[in-house]
Amino acid sequence: MGASGSKAREARVEFYRQKGKIHARAVQGPFNSLRWALVWITQGIFFGACWLQWEGPEGLRQAVLFDIAHEKLYLFGLVLWPQDALLLALVLILAATGLFLVTALGGRLFCGFACPQTVYTAIFTWLEARVEGDHLARRKLDQSPASARKWRLKSLKHGLWLGFSLVTAITFVGYFTPIRELLPALAQFQVGPWEAFWLLFYAAFTYVQAGLAREAVCQHMCPYSRFQGVMFDPATRNVAYDRQRGEPRQAGRQAGGDCVDCGICVQVCPVGIDIRDGLQYQCINCGLCIDACNQVMDKLGLPPGLIRFASEQELAVPAAPRPAPLRPRVAVYGSLFLVFVLLGAWTLAERSLVLVDVLRDRHVLMRETADGRIENAYTLKLMNLDDTPRTYRISVAGLPGLELVGERDFEVAAGGIRPVSVTVATAAGQHPSGAQPILFQVAALNAPATRAEEKSRFMLP
Ligand code: SF4
Ligand code: SF4
Repeated sequence: MGASGSKAREARVEFYRQKGKIHARAVQGPFNSLRWALVWITQGIFFGACWLQWEGPEGLRQAVLFDIAHEKLYLFGLVLWPQDALLLALVLILAATGLFLVTALGGRLFCGFACPQTVYTAIFTWLEARVEGDHLARRKLDQSPASARKWRLKSLKHGLWLGFSLVTAITFVGYFTPIRELLPALAQFQVGPWEAFWLLFYAAFTYVQAGLAREAVCQHMCPYSRFQGVMFDPATRNVAYDRQRGEPRQAGRQAGGDCVDCGICVQVCPVGIDIRDGLQYQCINCGLCIDACNQVMDKLGLPPGLIRFASEQELAVPAAPRPAPLRPRVAVYGSLFLVFVLLGAWTLAERSLVLVDVLRDRHVLMRETADGRIENAYTLKLMNLDDTPRTYRISVAGLPGLELVGERDFEVAAGGIRPVSVTVATAAGQHPSGAQPILFQVAALNAPATRAEEKSRFMLP
C-alpha cells in the first residue's frame, strides 16, 4: 500500500474525528459485553427496585421510597429521617472515596461502565441504530437532503427516545410518590404540580443528555473528567496504546510496527478520540478500542493487547514487573474507604430511634405546693424515629428525692412527634438553692435499647 492508501486511511480517521455528531461503529468483544452487562444490571435495579414491597408495622409499603412530604427515606426495613443527615452524608463521602479508589486502580472505569450518562447514551445509541442503521447509514442519513424517508426515520427515532425518557422519568418520580399510586394518577391526569414538573424535567433531561448531548457531556460538562488526573499515579492502569509496539504505524506492516493504521479504534470510540495520541481527558476507559484492535490483531495473526489497560510504568518498561496494587495512593484511598465504612456502620448501629427535647415552662419558674414540695414544669418533645408506634416511660434523675408527678408513660405514633407536659417535684429545703442540673431519661417499653437522655435544670428557692 503506497502513500495514497495511507492518505486515504488518514482521511477516514479524520472523517470519524471531525467535529459534529459522532456515529460510533458497533464492536463486539469482552469490554462491549461488560458494558452491556452493566446496562442491564443498573437498569434492572433502577426500573425494578421501585416495585419492591416491604411489610412494615403499618402494612405493605414501597420498599425504597423518598417520602418528602413526611420527611422519611424508606430503605426496606430502615427508615431514615432528617436527623440522620450525618448517615446520608457518610454514604455520599463513602461513594466519593470508593470512586477515587477505583480511579486510582483502573482510571475512569466508573465513566466507561457505570456512569448514568454512559449507560443511557448506550441505550439511546442502540435505539438509534435499530431505526437508522449502522454508523455509516446514520452518517449518510444525517448528510442527506431532507426527504420523506429522512423525516420518517428521524421522527421515529426521536419518538422512541422521548418515550424511553418518559418511562425513565415516571420511574424516577416513582421513588418519591409510590409508583403504584403514581401510575393510576397519571392515567387519569391527576398528578400534582410537583410530580408533573419533575416528570417533564427529568424526561427532558434524559432526552437532551443521552440523545442530543451524548459525549459532549463527558467532554465539556462533566467536572470529574477535569480533575480525575490528580487521582492517577504512574502505576494507574488506563486504556492505552502501546506506542513501542505499534509505531511506526504503517498500512500493510512491510517494515513498521504492529499498528496497521486501520483507524477502527477511532471509529468505535464513543467520544471520537484517537487513543494513539496518548492519554486524553475525554477518554472514558470504556475499552471498546481494545475490543476493536484485538480483532484486528487476531486477523493479522498478532498477539492481542496493542491497545490495553496498562500503566505508564508498564508501557515505558514492558519487561518491568507489574507494580503492586497496594501503592501509597491506593493505600490512602483504601484506608479512607474502610474508615468511612466503619464509621457508617457504627453510626447506623448507634443511632437512637427516639429523640427528646426538653423545654422548661417559661411562665412559672417554680411552684411551692401546700405539702411543702417544690414543683417545676416542663414540656418534653418526644420524637419516635421507629417504624412502629412506641410507648415511652419518662424518668428523671440528678437530685435525691426527685420524682415525676402524674402520668409518665406516653404513646407516640410511628414517625410521630408528641409534645407532653410533665411536672417534676422534690421536697423543699433539702437541696442547695438556685438552678440544679437534672437529667430526663426516656426509654421505650418493650424495646429497652431504644432510649435517650436530655439535660435540663431544676429551679429551687
Ligand atoms: S485498531 Fe489497532 S491497528 Fe487499527 S489503527 Fe487502531 S491501534 Fe492501529
Ligand atoms: S479511546 Fe478507547 S477507551 Fe477511551 S473512550 Fe475511546 S474507545 Fe473508549
